[in-house]
Amino acid sequence: MGRKHSHVIVLGIDGAGSFVKDADTPYFDSIFADGAVIYDALASNPSISAECWGSMLLGVGPEVHKLTNGIVSSTPYPADSPYPSLFRRIKAAYPEAELGSYCDWNPITYGIVEDNLGVSHDTANDDALAPVICDYIKAKKPDFLFIQFDSVDGAGHKHGYGTPEHLKRISEVDVLVNDVYTAAKDAGIIDDTLFIVIADHGGTNPGNGQGGGHGGWTDGEKYVTFAAAGRGVNKVQLEKMNIRDLAAVVLYSFGIDLPEFDEAGWTSQIPEDLFNDGAIPAYRDISHLTGAAPRISKVPHTSELI
Ligand SMILES: [Zn+2]
Repeated sequence: MGRKHSHVIVLGIDGAGSFVKDADTPYFDSIFADGAVIYDALASNPSISAECWGSMLLGVGPEVHKLTNGIVSSTPYPADSPYPSLFRRIKAAYPEAELGSYCDWNPITYGIVEDNLGVSHDTANDDALAPVICDYIKAKKPDFLFIQFDSVDGAGHKHGYGTPEHLKRISEVDVLVNDVYTAAKDAGIIDDTLFIVIADHGGTNPGNGQGGGHGGWTDGEKYVTFAAAGRGVNKVQLEKMNIRDLAAVVLYSFGIDLPEFDEAGWTSQIPEDLFNDGAIPAYRDISHLTGAAPRISKVPHTSELI
């Protein structure tokens, strides 16, 4: 397998869930007009940030990686973990690769990405971070760039998920999505980029002015948005996906062989119909792996409560 794209940009929107489809997102709609989209990809259970981002970046579920918000906030990700991050896998295959991790919620970079790989990184609130990311894209043309914006989750915690305030913040982050996309265009790399937007989980709307939470397995919490655009991506509404599949999708783009599917380890798969490639194996149902006891998280981790 050779590389399918010279660049992969993953833009994560924390707490956006499936609500992107309810928000006014003209840039998202335009970027993915000819791409693959799904609004009911399954989060990991419990539907909490560390568990979910960990699944995406490691290709294994919370039942295997055991990460929690407390752990990723306090413990650097072990460089010798049996579950290497995407960054470590890419670096092993391409030692010269330029890798970046730019997250508002810095525990992702600190607690899910190994710190001995020379990964470029920075952190700030979304609006301040976006221009830093754009400068980085233009200066370094990264092989792999992971971004996490956090303010949508903050709005959900404060106002409830799916509320007008939450949707408004999704629309505002849509502008940042376009900023990043435009930077890749200006850098001259967009035609050779796999561009992905993904959410980690949604949340609840109690409707009592108390704000929302997440960690459970209701539709509002467990269904999330995923969208991909780039060479070889089908124009399609995907039918099945788990967020941990992000890892397999990125490795596929890099032409890196996937680890063997193992219910006690790697369970990340390439969603059927995502790529125009008949060699991709049939998708396995892993719903029996996502039945952990829900754990409710009402504590916002964002640095900016909108
Ligand atoms: Zn989150």
